[in-house]
Amino acid sequence: MNELEYKCCPCCDTWKLLSEFSKIKSRKDGLNVYCKKCYSEKRKKWTKTYRELNSEQIKDRDKAFHWQNKQKRNIKSKNFLLNNHNEINKRRKAKYKMNPDKFIIRSQMRKSHKKSCESSLTIKEWKYIKQYFNDTFGDRICPYCNRVMIVITQDHFTPLNKGGGYSITNIIPCCKSCNSSKQDMDFYEWYKQYPLANNKNLEKIKEWFTYINNTLK
Ligand SMILES: [Zn+2]
Ligand SMILES: [Zn+2]
Repeated sequence: MNELEYKCCPCCDTWKLLSEFSKIKSRKDGLNVYCKKCYSEKRKKWTKTYRELNSEQIKDRDKAFHWQNKQKRNIKSKNFLLNNHNEINKRRKAKYKMNPDKFIIRSQMRKSHKKSCESSLTIKEWKYIKQYFNDTFGDRICPYCNRVMIVITQDHFTPLNKGGGYSITNIIPCCKSCNSSKQDMDFYEWYKQYPLANNKNLEKIKEWFTYINNTLK
């Protein structure tokens, strides 16, 4: 066997063509001791043992790396938002106009998901709730203050941070000013001191919840 063309791998104890050894400049013959196949298996084994022996350090390193990147990503997306503020707003408005209900529900779903709260309201259900609170002329009347709603918002009857979900049993349509007045307050606490509160509305709201909870039973 011509030793110039062949070399013996001490791992698999086989004579192999020189091309089956990877090149390493620092070695005398310029080739790896082990053949490519054996070397790659050895590397796998070494990496595995290294990972097992240093699992804690590796975890910490990965975490740090992820965190650093997160900072970078955040800065990037913040800059993007700042630089494209008008364009993004335009797109949002167009999306809202195309299908306001879908737009509202999507963004509320995202909020609930972030807080790991229940989120199950569908467009159909939302339309149904709005229908329920319409007056006899089909006008959209705010169930809290009795004024005609120009912009309809969704109120979490029981706030998210008090265990309320984004579902048909907890979402009430209401006008913008009622919604911003109520904020994260419990409904009954808020309504007690709300100047536009009235008993007829309160009854209708209670009726709705009795009705929907019985229907879903
Ligand atoms: Zn080998
Ligand atoms: Zn209102």
